Amino acid sequence: MKWFTATTWCWNCNIQAYGKRVSYMSYFYILLAFLHSRRYNCFMNKEARQISRLGIMGGTFDPIHFGHLVTAEGARYEYKLDKVIFIPTGQPPHKQNIKRTEPWSRFEMTRLAVATNPFFEISPLEIERPGPSYTIDTVQEIARLFPGTQIYFITGADAVSEILIWKKVEQILSICRFIAATRPGYKLGETWKKIDELPQDLKKNILCMEVPALAISSTGIRQRVREGRPIKYLLPESVEEYITSNNIYQD
Ligand code: ATP
Ligand code: MG
Repeated sequence: MKWFTATTWCWNCNIQAYGKRVSYMSYFYILLAFLHSRRYNCFMNKEARQISRLGIMGGTFDPIHFGHLVTAEGARYEYKLDKVIFIPTGQPPHKQNIKRTEPWSRFEMTRLAVATNPFFEISPLEIERPGPSYTIDTVQEIARLFPGTQIYFITGADAVSEILIWKKVEQILSICRFIAATRPGYKLGETWKKIDELPQDLKKNILCMEVPALAISSTGIRQRVREGRPIKYLLPESVEEYITSNNIYQD
């Protein structure tokens, strides 16, 4: 046995002596393959490594309301998400002509609303990025920040039909899954026809989730403020106070 070990050792030395350059190169390639297979996990921060399922809740949030919060919490529970990041849009590409509240005010309202849920976070990613906010850019950026994490893009059913006209939808669906929350009064009929036309491997990335009937919309809240009607119990108190003290949606 000793003889065998010694011979193997000598043989290894010989290989190393004659093929030093070759063996160094192979160590280098093995290291590269290892790093690639771990998807550069070793460069990630500890928190990113612990998250295996991450939800993204995108929206204008003008203002954020309980419809958004109930949907995000429902998705977190249903799909066992470790965290949901709320990303207020900077400049929505399809709403460019519509007057919107200043991005950092929408950000602040969203920050106040998510503060009470330890699983919720907020990111200024889209607000800080110049130009129109395209979902593909956001999803790619999140995938880069959380390599190896399964990303779920949470959206209301009304937005699903918009997905199908979004820029690079096939690319988005190959990076993340969509959780489509059914919104009261919204019929998925035509949308499902369009989804059905997608290739099977993309179609399976659109998941449906029912949320308790919440007929709340930001449009409705803005209108109520303009008309001086109450918005209490439609959104968190902290957001209501922010709207009142900053005179938002008055005109
Ligand atoms: P607006 O009336 O200005 O369009 P909104 O209430 O639709 O506002 P958005 O910021 O446009 O809110 O929506 C962000 C996301 O939340 C979208 O995916 C939308 O479908 C979803 N969403 C909005 N309201 C509800 C609700 N009441 N229940 C479930 N999902 C909702
Ligand atoms: Mg909307």
